[in-house]
Amino acid sequence: MKVPLPTPRSTRYTYRGLRERNESAWLVPNDGSRTNHTLRRDMRRFGDADEVDLVIVGAGAGGSVLAQRLARHGWTIVVLDAGPFWDPDADWVSDERGAHTLYWTEPRQIGGADPVPLGSNNSGRGVGGSMIHYSGYVPRLHPSDFHTMSSDGVGVDWPIGYADLKGYYEAIEQELPVAGQDWPWGDPHSYPQHAHPMSGNGDVFVRGATAAGIQTRVGPVAISNGRFGNRPHCIYRGFCQQGCKVNAKGTPLITHIPDALAHGVEVRAHSHVSRVLVDDGTDRATGVEYVLDGVVRRQRARMVAVAGYSIETPRLLLLSTTARHPQGLGNDHDQVGRYLMVQGAPQTAGRFDAEVRAYKAPPPEASTEQFYETDPAKPYKRGYSLQTVSPLPITWSEHVTAQGHWGEPLREYLRDYVHWATVGALCELLPQAENRVTLADEHDRHGLPVAHFAYSQCDNDTQLITAAQSTMERLLTAAGATELMTVQRYAHLVGGARMSRRPEDGVVDPAHRVHGMPNLLVTDGSALPTQGAANPALTIMAMVARAADLLARAPG
Ligand SMILES: Cc1cc2nc3c(=O)[nH]c(=O)nc-3n(C[C@H](O)[C@H](O)[C@H](O)COP(=O)(O)OP(=O)(O)OC[C@H]3O[C@@H](n4cnc5c(N)ncnc54)[C@H](O)[C@@H]3O)c2cc1C
Ligand code: SF4
Repeated sequence: MKVPLPTPRSTRYTYRGLRERNESAWLVPNDGSRTNHTLRRDMRRFGDADEVDLVIVGAGAGGSVLAQRLARHGWTIVVLDAGPFWDPDADWVSDERGAHTLYWTEPRQIGGADPVPLGSNNSGRGVGGSMIHYSGYVPRLHPSDFHTMSSDGVGVDWPIGYADLKGYYEAIEQELPVAGQDWPWGDPHSYPQHAHPMSGNGDVFVRGATAAGIQTRVGPVAISNGRFGNRPHCIYRGFCQQGCKVNAKGTPLITHIPDALAHGVEVRAHSHVSRVLVDDGTDRATGVEYVLDGVVRRQRARMVAVAGYSIETPRLLLLSTTARHPQGLGNDHDQVGRYLMVQGAPQTAGRFDAEVRAYKAPPPEASTEQFYETDPAKPYKRGYSLQTVSPLPITWSEHVTAQGHWGEPLREYLRDYVHWATVGALCELLPQAENRVTLADEHDRHGLPVAHFAYSQCDNDTQLITAAQSTMERLLTAAGATELMTVQRYAHLVGGARMSRRPEDGVVDPAHRVHGMPNLLVTDGSALPTQGAANPALTIMAMVARAADLLARAPG
């Protein structure tokens, strides 16, 4: 289905105003190093006996934004993260193999008819969360994503609408900042920075799409196109998924944590939260229990926000049983862990006689949302987006071995690496109650039951993935590919503690408060009721910025 292409308003922004509300980009050093050690050394520190206004579990996309926003309202805040407080200079290497420390590799179990492998392709650890190794594509959801049940008869309607998030999308796009061409799909809009130049992979994508009659745009990416505060311009070396050593890619470590520290937040790394503490008498959260250096400790707080990613957040709620809530917090209606979603993310590579050299740029370059919405002419509901992905050599070898190539044929494909361009799809797989996290019999090194994640596709999901694959193959063939190779995979977990108006239908209310427990919040991707065909990080940050505004107005 063709989408009409209106010309959006072109509203580039100035830094005035932005710096006044989030100074992070000016708080990273401008002396060639990446970390403001003084800010970290001098950050405010609280004792476990201190009762802070808010303790946040997880310093990722959601947790960092919440901390930065509420610190500016004078809240006392401790953020606990199970992983390290990264220093890009000391900790990261521009090398695929050396990046494995970025991933959450604690044990988890998977099951269901279509199990989702967990590891490097889903959650991160440490301050900055999964955005440390995300690619940097940051599209918005479409207005239709908020009412898929009413409009398309699938999924569920959100209790909030696109209009509730629009202003927060704009604010976060400025803070990351986002570079891209004027966007015609969904709610047409512009981006703060102009689009980046493209590499061979981007050129193939746009050439093939144009020849196949598919409209494309360059971006949107959270990668600075020009100096931004003290952050330098992207240098196009393509190691975005290894943790950008340059500070050009926007991650919470540099977009929200510096400003949070400057406003009195304590970020306590290597602190694994094992349960939310609740007063049985009042049924209010009173803080959290966590493990630091092998010692079990407690942080007291007037409010608790859980932001540990879609697997660990439901797991923590399930682990936090009390006399009143023997099945876990927020779980009186057996909703915690349910409706966990993952996008179908097949990738198709095409071979070209000319060299493509896909690695000479950030993987996210160009995309299309032409197939995002329900097309009445198709047998399935909802849709998919297409984007460039540019696997580095080890990921490329995984792509090749997934086809069964081994030995000499594998070596030949690896030698041929520079001739391949790769395109990826994100398919909107539907929320289903039985796709869920539960607690397994197996225990982790802290003695806690690990998460079990069951996942099965429905017919609509399977049809969407097949359709996306055929469009990618059409696009690459139209660009002149002489050979194609597709792998099936998943990306981007969200849901598991979804937002709902009624406690019977979800875990948190429209203000992210756990139903029936107003001082316990879920402020990460777990709260999404549906996922669209857009990468989720921008939406998570925008939702949490909205939640922070609501809290600042009515702490409760
Ligand atoms: C390879 C890859 C590429 C991606 N590319 C994109 C992209 O291009 N665009 C996009 O929008 N999204 C992308 N994503 C997804 C995106 O990064 C995530 O959706 C997003 O970061 C999730 O935010 P969150 O707040 O839910 O969790 P996270 O950002 O993962 O933060 C969770 C934090 O909680 C901490 N934590 C967990 N449990 C505990 C505990 N018990 N105690 C203390 N701390 C805990 C973790 O250490 C982590 O730091 C990508 C992901 C991957 C893996
Ligand atoms: S390509 Fe740009 S954004 Fe990606 S790692 Fe390199 S400098 Fe950072």
